[in-house]
Amino acid sequence: MSKHIFVTGGVVSSLGKGLTSASIGMLLESRGLRVRMQKLDPYLNVDPGTMSPFQHGEVYVLDDGSETDLDLGHYERFTSSPLTRDSNYTTGQIYQSVIHKERRGEFLGQTVQVIPHVTNEIKSAISKLGSDDVDVVITEIGGTVGDIESQPFLEAIRQFALDVGKENCLYIHLTLIPYLKAAGELKTKPTQHSVGQLRQIGVQPDVLICRTERSLGRDECAKIALFCNVPVEAVIEERDKDFSVYEVPVSLLEHGLDALIVRKLDLRASEPHLDRWRDLLHRMRNPEREVTIAVVGKYVEHRDAYKSIYEAIDHAGVAHRAQVRVLRVHSEAIEREGPEKLLCGADGVLVPGGFGERGIEGKLEAIRFARERGVPFFGICLGMQCAVVEFARNVAGLEAANSTEFDKDTPYPVICLLDEQRNVTDKGGTMRLGAHPAVLQVESRSAAVYNATTISERHRHRFEFNNAYRNQLAAHGLSIAGASPDGQLVEIIELPDHPWFVATQFHPEFKSQPTRPQPLFAGFLGAAVRSRGARTHTGHEAEAVQP
Ligand code: GLN
Repeated sequence: MSKHIFVTGGVVSSLGKGLTSASIGMLLESRGLRVRMQKLDPYLNVDPGTMSPFQHGEVYVLDDGSETDLDLGHYERFTSSPLTRDSNYTTGQIYQSVIHKERRGEFLGQTVQVIPHVTNEIKSAISKLGSDDVDVVITEIGGTVGDIESQPFLEAIRQFALDVGKENCLYIHLTLIPYLKAAGELKTKPTQHSVGQLRQIGVQPDVLICRTERSLGRDECAKIALFCNVPVEAVIEERDKDFSVYEVPVSLLEHGLDALIVRKLDLRASEPHLDRWRDLLHRMRNPEREVTIAVVGKYVEHRDAYKSIYEAIDHAGVAHRAQVRVLRVHSEAIEREGPEKLLCGADGVLVPGGFGERGIEGKLEAIRFARERGVPFFGICLGMQCAVVEFARNVAGLEAANSTEFDKDTPYPVICLLDEQRNVTDKGGTMRLGAHPAVLQVESRSAAVYNATTISERHRHRFEFNNAYRNQLAAHGLSIAGASPDGQLVEIIELPDHPWFVATQFHPEFKSQPTRPQPLFAGFLGAAVRSRGARTHTGHEAEAVQP
Protein backbone atom coordinates (compact mmCIF):
# COMPACT_ATOMS: atom_id res chain seq x y z
CA MET A 1 0.00 0.00 0.00
CA SER A 2 1.23 3.52 -0.82
CA LYS A 3 1.93 6.10 1.84
CA HIS A 4 0.68 9.65 1.33
CA ILE A 5 2.31 13.01 1.85
CA PHE A 6 0.16 16.13 1.67
CA VAL A 7 1.83 19.48 1.13
CA THR A 8 -0.12 22.60 2.08
CA GLY A 9 0.97 26.23 2.10
CA GLY A 10 0.35 29.03 4.54
CA VAL A 11 0.73 32.77 5.16
CA VAL A 12 1.27 33.87 1.55
CA SER A 13 1.15 32.40 -1.92
CA SER A 14 4.25 32.00 -4.14
CA LEU A 15 6.26 30.31 -1.39
CA GLY A 16 7.48 27.67 -3.80
CA LYS A 17 5.24 24.81 -2.76
CA GLY A 18 5.68 23.21 -6.16
CA LEU A 19 9.45 23.34 -5.90
CA THR A 20 9.41 22.07 -2.35
CA SER A 21 7.07 19.20 -3.26
CA ALA A 22 9.25 18.35 -6.26
CA SER A 23 12.34 18.46 -4.04
CA ILE A 24 10.71 16.08 -1.56
CA GLY A 25 9.89 13.75 -4.45
CA MET A 26 13.44 13.95 -5.67
CA LEU A 27 14.92 13.22 -2.22
CA LEU A 28 12.67 10.19 -1.76
CA GLU A 29 13.59 8.88 -5.21
CA SER A 30 17.24 9.36 -4.34
CA ARG A 31 16.58 6.91 -1.49
CA GLY A 32 15.28 4.31 -3.91
CA LEU A 33 11.58 4.96 -3.30
CA ARG A 34 8.94 4.93 -6.05
CA VAL A 35 7.12 8.23 -6.00
CA ARG A 36 4.05 9.69 -7.70
CA MET A 37 3.33 13.41 -7.73
CA GLN A 38 0.02 15.25 -7.92
CA LYS A 39 -1.28 18.81 -7.65
CA LEU A 40 -4.82 19.72 -6.60
CA ASP A 41 -5.77 23.25 -7.64
CA PRO A 42 -8.68 24.93 -5.88
CA TYR A 43 -9.69 27.26 -8.72
CA LEU A 44 -12.83 26.68 -10.80
CA ASN A 45 -11.27 26.50 -14.27
CA VAL A 46 -11.33 22.92 -15.49
CA ASP A 47 -7.65 23.29 -16.34
CA PRO A 48 -5.23 26.20 -16.81
CA GLY A 49 -5.39 25.79 -20.61
CA THR A 50 -7.73 28.72 -21.04
CA MET A 51 -6.03 31.02 -18.53
CA SER A 52 -3.88 34.01 -19.48
CA PRO A 53 -0.13 33.61 -18.98
CA PHE A 54 -0.29 36.83 -16.98
CA GLN A 55 -2.69 35.19 -14.54
CA HIS A 56 -1.26 31.77 -14.33
CA GLY A 57 2.13 31.58 -16.02
CA GLU A 58 2.88 28.86 -18.50
CA VAL A 59 0.52 26.02 -19.29
CA TYR A 60 2.50 22.83 -18.87
CA VAL A 61 1.59 20.09 -21.35
CA LEU A 62 1.98 16.38 -20.57
CA ASP A 63 2.53 13.48 -22.96
CA ASP A 64 -1.14 12.51 -22.72
CA GLY A 65 -2.16 16.00 -23.87
CA SER A 66 -3.42 17.34 -20.57
CA GLU A 67 -2.84 21.04 -20.04
CA THR A 68 -1.66 21.42 -16.48
CA ASP A 69 -0.29 23.72 -13.83
CA LEU A 70 3.33 24.78 -14.23
CA ASP A 71 4.25 23.11 -10.94
CA LEU A 72 4.03 19.83 -12.84
CA GLY A 73 7.03 21.11 -14.78
CA HIS A 74 8.99 21.18 -11.51
CA TYR A 75 7.83 17.63 -10.80
CA GLU A 76 9.12 16.42 -14.16
CA ARG A 77 12.39 18.32 -13.87
CA PHE A 78 13.12 17.02 -10.36
CA THR A 79 11.69 13.50 -10.39
CA SER A 80 11.00 10.61 -12.72
CA SER A 81 7.40 10.24 -11.51
CA PRO A 82 5.28 9.58 -14.59
CA LEU A 83 2.62 12.28 -14.91
CA THR A 84 -0.80 11.91 -16.50
CA ARG A 85 -4.09 13.75 -16.33
CA ASP A 86 -4.55 12.19 -12.90
CA SER A 87 -1.64 14.29 -11.71
CA ASN A 88 -3.56 17.59 -11.76
CA TYR A 89 -7.14 18.12 -10.61
CA THR A 90 -8.96 21.41 -10.19
CA THR A 91 -12.17 22.26 -8.37
CA GLY A 92 -13.66 22.66 -11.84
CA GLN A 93 -12.86 19.06 -12.75
CA ILE A 94 -13.98 17.71 -9.40
CA TYR A 95 -17.35 19.49 -9.63
CA GLN A 96 -17.76 18.56 -13.30
CA SER A 97 -17.39 14.92 -12.38
CA VAL A 98 -19.76 15.15 -9.40
CA ILE A 99 -22.39 16.93 -11.51
CA HIS A 100 -22.11 14.35 -14.30
CA LYS A 101 -22.67 11.60 -11.75
CA GLU A 102 -25.68 13.45 -10.39
CA ARG A 103 -27.13 13.82 -13.91
CA ARG A 104 -26.63 10.10 -14.52
CA GLY A 105 -28.55 9.40 -11.31
CA GLU A 106 -25.58 7.76 -9.62
CA PHE A 107 -26.36 9.30 -6.24
CA LEU A 108 -29.73 7.49 -6.06
CA GLY A 109 -31.78 10.47 -4.99
CA GLN A 110 -29.47 11.73 -2.26
CA THR A 111 -28.92 15.41 -1.69
CA VAL A 112 -25.55 16.05 -3.33
CA GLN A 113 -23.26 18.00 -0.99
CA VAL A 114 -19.70 19.22 -0.57
CA ILE A 115 -19.32 16.69 2.24
CA PRO A 116 -19.37 13.81 1.38
CA HIS A 117 -19.79 13.94 -2.41
CA VAL A 118 -17.21 16.53 -3.37
CA THR A 119 -14.75 15.35 -0.72
CA ASN A 120 -15.23 11.74 -1.88
CA GLU A 121 -14.42 12.80 -5.41
CA ILE A 122 -11.25 14.52 -4.18
CA LYS A 123 -10.25 11.47 -2.15
CA SER A 124 -10.76 9.23 -5.15
CA ALA A 125 -8.51 11.54 -7.21
CA ILE A 126 -5.82 11.11 -4.54
CA SER A 127 -6.29 7.32 -4.26
CA LYS A 128 -5.94 6.89 -8.03
CA LEU A 129 -2.19 7.51 -7.78
CA GLY A 130 -1.60 4.89 -5.10
CA SER A 131 -0.79 1.27 -6.05
CA ASP A 132 1.40 -1.67 -5.09
CA ASP A 133 4.14 -0.25 -7.30
CA VAL A 134 4.18 3.13 -5.60
CA ASP A 135 5.79 3.76 -2.22
CA VAL A 136 4.79 7.39 -1.74
CA VAL A 137 2.17 9.64 -3.31
CA ILE A 138 2.91 13.34 -2.84
CA THR A 139 -0.17 15.53 -3.17
CA GLU A 140 0.33 19.28 -3.24
CA ILE A 141 -2.70 21.41 -2.41
CA GLY A 142 -2.68 24.65 -4.38
CA GLY A 143 -3.58 27.98 -2.81
CA THR A 144 -3.05 29.07 0.77
CA VAL A 145 -4.64 27.70 3.93
CA GLY A 146 -7.54 29.97 4.81
CA ASP A 147 -8.77 30.44 1.23
CA ILE A 148 -12.47 29.66 0.98
CA GLU A 149 -11.98 27.64 -2.18
CA SER A 150 -9.35 25.31 -0.73
CA GLN A 151 -11.53 24.20 2.21
CA PRO A 152 -13.02 21.08 0.53
CA PHE A 153 -9.49 19.91 -0.35
CA LEU A 154 -8.25 20.34 3.22
CA GLU A 155 -11.33 18.56 4.52
CA ALA A 156 -10.69 15.73 2.04
CA ILE A 157 -7.09 15.27 3.15
CA ARG A 158 -8.23 15.27 6.78
CA GLN A 159 -10.71 12.48 6.01
CA PHE A 160 -8.10 10.64 3.96
CA ALA A 161 -6.04 9.86 7.06
CA LEU A 162 -9.16 8.46 8.74
CA ASP A 163 -9.74 6.18 5.75
CA VAL A 164 -6.21 4.83 5.31
CA GLY A 165 -4.80 5.27 8.83
CA LYS A 166 -2.90 8.23 10.20
CA GLU A 167 0.33 6.19 10.21
CA ASN A 168 0.16 6.13 6.41
CA CYS A 169 -0.17 9.89 5.98
CA LEU A 170 2.12 12.81 6.57
CA TYR A 171 1.04 16.44 6.53
CA ILE A 172 3.73 18.92 5.56
CA HIS A 173 2.95 22.61 5.85
CA LEU A 174 5.11 25.15 4.02
CA THR A 175 5.08 28.50 5.68
CA LEU A 176 6.82 31.86 5.79
CA ILE A 177 8.87 33.26 8.66
CA PRO A 178 9.21 36.93 7.70
CA TYR A 179 12.11 39.04 8.91
CA LEU A 180 11.06 42.44 10.19
CA LYS A 181 13.86 44.91 9.65
CA ALA A 182 12.41 47.44 12.08
CA ALA A 183 12.32 44.89 14.87
CA GLY A 184 15.47 43.10 13.69
CA GLU A 185 13.62 39.82 14.23
CA LEU A 186 12.19 36.81 12.47
CA LYS A 187 8.47 36.65 13.18
CA THR A 188 6.70 33.38 13.89
CA LYS A 189 3.17 34.70 14.48
CA PRO A 190 1.89 34.35 10.88
CA THR A 191 2.96 30.70 10.99
CA GLN A 192 1.20 30.17 14.29
CA HIS A 193 -1.99 31.59 12.75
CA SER A 194 -1.72 29.55 9.62
CA VAL A 195 -1.17 26.32 11.56
CA GLY A 196 -4.02 27.38 13.82
CA GLN A 197 -6.31 27.54 10.81
CA LEU A 198 -5.22 24.10 9.65
CA ARG A 199 -5.86 22.68 13.10
CA GLN A 200 -9.31 24.24 13.13
CA ILE A 201 -10.23 22.02 10.19
CA GLY A 202 -8.71 19.07 11.97
CA VAL A 203 -5.36 18.84 10.22
CA GLN A 204 -2.36 18.85 12.55
CA PRO A 205 0.77 19.30 10.43
CA ASP A 206 3.51 16.75 11.14
CA VAL A 207 6.29 18.79 9.58
CA LEU A 208 6.70 22.54 9.09
CA ILE A 209 8.97 23.73 6.34
CA CYS A 210 9.81 27.34 7.06
CA ARG A 211 10.74 29.64 4.22
CA THR A 212 13.00 32.31 5.58
CA GLU A 213 15.55 34.80 4.36
CA ARG A 214 17.69 34.32 7.51
CA SER A 215 18.69 31.23 9.39
CA LEU A 216 16.29 30.15 12.12
CA GLY A 217 17.95 30.07 15.51
CA ARG A 218 17.37 27.37 18.10
CA ASP A 219 14.98 29.65 20.00
CA GLU A 220 12.85 30.39 16.98
CA CYS A 221 12.59 26.69 16.13
CA ALA A 222 11.62 25.86 19.70
CA LYS A 223 8.99 28.59 19.71
CA ILE A 224 7.49 27.48 16.40
CA ALA A 225 7.47 23.88 17.61
CA LEU A 226 5.74 24.76 20.87
CA PHE A 227 3.08 27.05 19.41
CA CYS A 228 2.38 24.85 16.40
CA ASN A 229 2.35 21.59 18.33
CA VAL A 230 5.11 19.79 16.44
CA PRO A 231 8.37 18.24 17.72
CA VAL A 232 11.29 20.60 17.30
CA GLU A 233 13.08 18.29 14.84
CA ALA A 234 10.05 18.63 12.56
CA VAL A 235 10.68 22.36 12.10
CA ILE A 236 12.73 22.43 8.92
CA GLU A 237 14.36 25.57 7.64
CA GLU A 238 14.21 26.38 3.92
CA ARG A 239 16.41 29.43 3.35
CA ASP A 240 15.89 31.56 0.24
CA LYS A 241 18.19 30.42 -2.55
CA ASP A 242 19.63 33.19 -4.60
CA PHE A 243 21.76 30.96 -6.77
CA SER A 244 19.47 28.24 -8.12
CA VAL A 245 16.26 26.42 -7.31
CA TYR A 246 18.20 23.21 -7.85
CA GLU A 247 19.86 23.83 -4.48
CA VAL A 248 16.58 23.27 -2.64
CA PRO A 249 16.71 19.45 -2.40
CA VAL A 250 20.28 19.49 -1.08
CA SER A 251 19.42 22.10 1.50
CA LEU A 252 16.35 20.15 2.66
CA LEU A 253 18.52 17.06 2.90
CA GLU A 254 21.02 18.95 5.03
CA HIS A 255 18.19 19.89 7.36
CA GLY A 256 17.21 16.25 7.68
CA LEU A 257 13.85 16.36 5.91
CA ASP A 258 14.23 13.09 3.99
CA ALA A 259 15.35 11.16 7.06
CA LEU A 260 12.42 12.61 9.02
CA ILE A 261 9.90 11.57 6.35
CA VAL A 262 11.37 8.07 6.10
CA ARG A 263 11.17 7.69 9.87
CA LYS A 264 7.69 9.13 10.28
CA LEU A 265 6.18 7.06 7.47
CA ASP A 266 8.22 3.99 8.38
CA LEU A 267 9.49 3.65 4.82
CA ARG A 268 12.06 1.08 3.77
CA ALA A 269 14.58 3.32 2.08
CA SER A 270 18.25 3.32 1.19
CA GLU A 271 20.65 6.14 2.03
CA PRO A 272 20.20 9.15 -0.28
CA HIS A 273 22.27 9.13 -3.48
CA LEU A 274 22.66 12.67 -4.69
CA ASP A 275 25.95 12.46 -6.56
CA ARG A 276 24.48 13.38 -9.94
CA TRP A 277 22.62 16.30 -8.42
CA ARG A 278 25.67 17.58 -6.54
CA ASP A 279 27.67 17.28 -9.73
CA LEU A 280 25.01 19.36 -11.50
CA LEU A 281 25.29 22.08 -8.84
CA HIS A 282 29.06 21.99 -9.09
CA ARG A 283 28.88 22.49 -12.85
CA MET A 284 26.37 25.30 -12.42
CA ARG A 285 28.61 27.06 -9.91
CA ASN A 286 31.71 26.72 -12.05
CA PRO A 287 30.90 27.82 -15.59
CA GLU A 288 33.75 28.12 -18.03
CA ARG A 289 32.21 30.55 -20.46
CA GLU A 290 29.36 32.99 -20.86
CA VAL A 291 26.64 33.26 -23.42
CA THR A 292 23.70 35.61 -23.92
CA ILE A 293 20.38 34.42 -25.25
CA ALA A 294 17.57 36.81 -26.19
CA VAL A 295 14.07 35.48 -25.63
CA VAL A 296 11.70 37.57 -27.73
CA GLY A 297 8.09 37.31 -26.64
CA LYS A 298 5.19 39.32 -25.40
CA TYR A 299 5.05 37.89 -21.88
CA VAL A 300 8.70 38.50 -21.00
CA GLU A 301 7.90 40.68 -17.99
CA HIS A 302 6.14 37.74 -16.36
CA ARG A 303 8.75 35.33 -14.97
CA ASP A 304 6.53 32.28 -15.14
CA ALA A 305 5.06 32.73 -18.61
CA TYR A 306 7.99 30.98 -20.33
CA LYS A 307 9.10 28.98 -17.29
CA SER A 308 10.07 25.75 -19.05
CA ILE A 309 11.87 27.66 -21.80
CA TYR A 310 14.10 29.45 -19.29
CA GLU A 311 14.72 26.19 -17.47
CA ALA A 312 15.59 24.33 -20.68
CA ILE A 313 18.03 27.13 -21.62
CA ASP A 314 19.70 26.77 -18.23
CA HIS A 315 19.96 23.00 -18.56
CA ALA A 316 21.58 23.37 -21.97
CA GLY A 317 23.89 26.00 -20.50
CA VAL A 318 25.06 23.57 -17.81
CA ALA A 319 25.76 20.97 -20.49
CA HIS A 320 28.05 23.47 -22.24
CA ARG A 321 29.56 24.72 -18.97
CA ALA A 322 28.14 28.11 -19.90
CA GLN A 323 26.68 30.76 -17.66
CA VAL A 324 23.63 31.89 -19.61
CA ARG A 325 22.44 35.45 -19.41
CA VAL A 326 18.88 35.67 -20.68
CA LEU A 327 17.79 38.95 -22.24
CA ARG A 328 14.03 39.13 -22.03
CA VAL A 329 13.08 41.26 -25.00
CA HIS A 330 9.52 42.42 -25.49
CA SER A 331 8.49 41.89 -29.09
CA GLU A 332 6.56 45.17 -29.09
CA ALA A 333 9.72 46.97 -27.97
CA ILE A 334 11.42 45.62 -31.10
CA GLU A 335 8.58 47.13 -33.14
CA ARG A 336 9.32 50.51 -31.55
CA GLU A 337 13.08 50.47 -31.25
CA GLY A 338 14.28 48.01 -33.88
CA PRO A 339 16.17 44.72 -33.46
CA GLU A 340 19.70 46.17 -33.84
CA LYS A 341 19.46 48.05 -30.58
CA LEU A 342 17.71 45.37 -28.53
CA LEU A 343 19.43 42.26 -29.87
CA CYS A 344 22.95 43.56 -30.38
CA GLY A 345 24.48 41.65 -27.45
CA ALA A 346 22.67 38.38 -28.15
CA ASP A 347 24.58 35.24 -29.12
CA GLY A 348 21.33 33.48 -29.91
CA VAL A 349 17.70 34.47 -30.41
CA LEU A 350 14.78 32.34 -29.25
CA VAL A 351 11.17 33.07 -30.16
CA PRO A 352 8.82 31.00 -27.98
CA GLY A 353 5.18 29.97 -28.40
CA GLY A 354 2.20 32.26 -28.10
CA PHE A 355 -1.20 33.28 -29.31
CA GLY A 356 -2.72 36.37 -30.87
CA GLU A 357 -1.48 39.14 -33.11
CA ARG A 358 0.03 41.55 -30.62
CA GLY A 359 3.80 41.75 -30.97
CA ILE A 360 3.99 39.53 -34.06
CA GLU A 361 5.71 42.09 -36.28
CA GLY A 362 8.43 42.52 -33.64
CA LYS A 363 9.01 38.77 -33.60
CA LEU A 364 9.29 38.79 -37.39
CA GLU A 365 11.88 41.57 -37.20
CA ALA A 366 13.86 39.64 -34.57
CA ILE A 367 13.84 36.54 -36.78
CA ARG A 368 14.91 38.52 -39.84
CA PHE A 369 17.76 40.00 -37.82
CA ALA A 370 18.93 36.54 -36.70
CA ARG A 371 18.56 35.05 -40.17
CA GLU A 372 20.39 37.83 -42.00
CA ARG A 373 23.19 38.26 -39.44
CA GLY A 374 23.83 34.54 -38.96
CA VAL A 375 22.85 34.71 -35.26
CA PRO A 376 21.75 31.25 -34.00
CA PHE A 377 17.96 31.12 -33.95
CA PHE A 378 15.52 28.77 -32.26
CA GLY A 379 11.77 29.10 -32.92
CA ILE A 380 9.20 27.21 -30.90
CA CYS A 381 5.60 26.70 -32.03
CA LEU A 382 4.46 30.27 -32.77
CA GLY A 383 8.19 30.97 -33.16
CA MET A 384 8.32 28.43 -35.99
CA GLN A 385 5.19 29.82 -37.58
CA CYS A 386 6.69 33.32 -37.48
CA ALA A 387 9.94 32.01 -39.01
CA VAL A 388 7.94 30.59 -41.92
CA VAL A 389 6.08 33.88 -42.40
CA GLU A 390 9.33 35.88 -42.26
CA PHE A 391 11.01 33.57 -44.77
CA ALA A 392 8.01 33.68 -47.11
CA ARG A 393 7.91 37.47 -47.04
CA ASN A 394 11.58 38.35 -47.15
CA VAL A 395 13.23 35.45 -48.96
CA ALA A 396 10.54 33.90 -51.16
CA GLY A 397 9.10 37.31 -52.08
CA LEU A 398 5.56 36.50 -50.93
CA GLU A 399 4.74 39.99 -49.73
CA ALA A 400 2.12 40.17 -46.97
CA ALA A 401 2.39 36.42 -46.34
CA ASN A 402 0.95 35.64 -42.93
CA SER A 403 -0.68 33.12 -40.63
CA THR A 404 -4.45 33.07 -40.93
CA GLU A 405 -4.45 33.41 -37.14
CA PHE A 406 -3.44 37.05 -37.69
CA ASP A 407 -4.77 37.86 -41.14
CA LYS A 408 -7.64 35.79 -42.50
CA ASP A 409 -7.39 37.49 -45.91
CA THR A 410 -3.64 37.27 -46.44
CA PRO A 411 -2.79 36.59 -50.10
CA TYR A 412 -0.26 33.97 -48.95
CA PRO A 413 -1.55 31.96 -45.98
CA VAL A 414 1.71 30.12 -45.33
CA ILE A 415 0.43 29.14 -41.88
CA CYS A 416 -3.20 27.99 -41.72
CA LEU A 417 -5.63 26.27 -39.40
CA LEU A 418 -5.15 22.52 -38.94
CA ASP A 419 -7.89 20.60 -40.79
CA GLU A 420 -9.00 18.91 -37.58
CA GLN A 421 -9.64 22.38 -36.06
CA ARG A 422 -12.12 23.61 -38.66
CA ASN A 423 -15.26 22.79 -36.71
CA VAL A 424 -13.88 23.30 -33.22
CA THR A 425 -15.64 26.02 -31.25
CA ASP A 426 -14.82 25.20 -27.61
CA LYS A 427 -11.58 26.71 -26.35
CA GLY A 428 -10.74 24.30 -23.52
CA GLY A 429 -8.63 21.23 -24.30
CA THR A 430 -9.33 21.35 -28.04
CA MET A 431 -5.93 22.15 -29.56
CA ARG A 432 -3.65 19.51 -31.06
CA LEU A 433 -2.16 18.46 -27.76
CA GLY A 434 0.40 16.15 -26.25
CA ALA A 435 3.04 13.79 -27.55
CA HIS A 436 3.14 13.00 -31.26
CA PRO A 437 5.96 11.34 -33.18
CA ALA A 438 7.98 13.08 -35.86
CA VAL A 439 10.32 11.65 -38.46
CA LEU A 440 13.51 13.59 -39.12
CA GLN A 441 15.54 13.97 -42.32
CA VAL A 442 18.70 11.93 -41.93
CA GLU A 443 20.90 14.82 -43.04
CA SER A 444 19.26 17.42 -40.83
CA ARG A 445 20.83 19.24 -37.88
CA SER A 446 17.94 18.06 -35.76
CA ALA A 447 18.65 14.39 -36.49
CA ALA A 448 22.30 15.04 -35.64
CA VAL A 449 21.57 16.51 -32.22
CA TYR A 450 18.87 13.97 -31.36
CA ASN A 451 21.08 11.22 -32.73
CA ALA A 452 17.82 9.68 -33.95
CA THR A 453 15.43 10.00 -36.85
CA THR A 454 12.22 9.25 -34.95
CA ILE A 455 11.36 11.39 -31.98
CA SER A 456 8.34 12.18 -29.83
CA GLU A 457 7.64 15.67 -28.53
CA ARG A 458 4.72 17.53 -27.00
CA HIS A 459 2.41 19.85 -28.87
CA ARG A 460 -0.09 22.62 -28.23
CA HIS A 461 -1.32 24.39 -31.35
CA ARG A 462 -4.21 24.99 -33.76
CA PHE A 463 -2.28 26.28 -36.78
CA GLU A 464 0.21 24.53 -39.03
CA PHE A 465 2.61 25.02 -41.94
CA ASN A 466 0.46 25.20 -45.08
CA ASN A 467 1.59 22.34 -47.34
CA ALA A 468 0.56 24.30 -50.44
CA TYR A 469 3.71 26.40 -49.92
CA ARG A 470 6.17 23.61 -49.18
CA ASN A 471 7.78 23.41 -52.62
CA GLN A 472 7.92 27.14 -53.13
CA LEU A 473 9.64 27.78 -49.80
CA ALA A 474 11.91 24.74 -50.20
CA ALA A 475 13.01 26.09 -53.59
CA HIS A 476 14.28 29.17 -51.75
CA GLY A 477 16.30 27.13 -49.26
CA LEU A 478 13.93 26.31 -46.39
CA SER A 479 14.33 22.69 -45.38
CA ILE A 480 11.57 20.58 -43.88
CA ALA A 481 13.77 18.73 -41.42
CA GLY A 482 10.98 16.87 -39.64
CA ALA A 483 7.37 15.94 -40.27
CA SER A 484 4.64 13.72 -38.86
CA PRO A 485 5.10 10.04 -39.85
CA ASP A 486 2.55 10.42 -42.68
CA GLY A 487 4.57 13.38 -43.95
CA GLN A 488 1.57 15.71 -43.77
CA LEU A 489 2.40 17.93 -40.86
CA VAL A 490 5.58 19.98 -40.77
CA GLU A 491 7.27 19.57 -37.40
CA ILE A 492 10.70 21.14 -37.90
CA ILE A 493 12.13 23.65 -40.35
CA GLU A 494 15.81 24.44 -40.77
CA LEU A 495 17.95 26.76 -42.88
CA PRO A 496 20.97 24.63 -43.78
CA ASP A 497 23.02 27.64 -44.93
CA HIS A 498 22.75 29.36 -41.57
CA PRO A 499 24.98 28.59 -38.52
CA TRP A 500 21.89 27.45 -36.58
CA PHE A 501 18.37 28.20 -37.68
CA VAL A 502 16.00 25.55 -36.36
CA ALA A 503 12.32 25.94 -35.50
CA THR A 504 9.82 23.40 -34.26
CA GLN A 505 6.04 23.16 -34.25
CA PHE A 506 6.30 21.22 -30.98
CA HIS A 507 7.45 22.37 -27.55
CA PRO A 508 10.79 20.72 -26.79
CA GLU A 509 11.13 22.69 -23.55
CA PHE A 510 8.70 20.37 -21.76
CA LYS A 511 11.08 17.44 -21.90
CA SER A 512 14.26 19.08 -20.69
CA GLN A 513 15.73 17.98 -17.37
CA PRO A 514 18.65 19.56 -15.52
CA THR A 515 20.81 16.46 -15.85
CA ARG A 516 19.42 15.56 -19.29
CA PRO A 517 19.16 18.70 -21.47
CA GLN A 518 16.82 18.60 -24.44
CA PRO A 519 18.92 17.96 -27.60
CA LEU A 520 17.64 20.94 -29.63
CA PHE A 521 18.24 23.32 -26.74
CA ALA A 522 21.72 21.85 -26.29
CA GLY A 523 22.38 22.25 -30.03
CA PHE A 524 21.14 25.84 -30.03
CA LEU A 525 23.20 26.77 -26.97
CA GLY A 526 26.29 25.16 -28.49
CA ALA A 527 25.79 27.22 -31.64
CA ALA A 528 25.36 30.38 -29.54
CA VAL A 529 28.57 29.62 -27.64
CA ARG A 530 30.44 29.12 -30.93
CA SER A 531 28.93 32.26 -32.37
CA ARG A 532 30.11 34.26 -29.37
CA GLY A 533 33.55 32.73 -29.71
CA ALA A 534 33.67 33.77 -33.36
CA ARG A 535 32.37 37.23 -32.51
CA THR A 536 34.88 37.86 -29.77
CA HIS A 537 37.65 36.31 -31.91
CA THR A 538 38.96 34.18 -29.07
CA GLY A 539 38.21 30.96 -30.83
CA HIS A 540 38.33 29.05 -27.50
CA GLU A 541 34.63 28.49 -27.31
CA ALA A 542 34.46 27.42 -30.92
CA GLU A 543 36.89 24.63 -30.17
CA ALA A 544 35.54 23.68 -26.80
CA VAL A 545 31.96 22.92 -27.71
CA GLN A 546 30.84 20.79 -30.58
CA PRO A 547 27.14 20.35 -31.35
N1 GLN B 1 -1.00 30.32 -31.90
C1 GLN B 1 -0.34 29.26 -32.57
C2 GLN B 1 -1.25 28.07 -32.82
O1 GLN B 1 -2.28 27.95 -32.23
C3 GLN B 1 0.88 28.80 -31.81
C4 GLN B 1 0.57 28.13 -30.51
C5 GLN B 1 1.74 28.02 -29.60
O2 GLN B 1 2.75 28.69 -29.79
N2 GLN B 1 1.62 27.20 -28.57
O3 GLN B 1 -0.94 27.21 -33.62
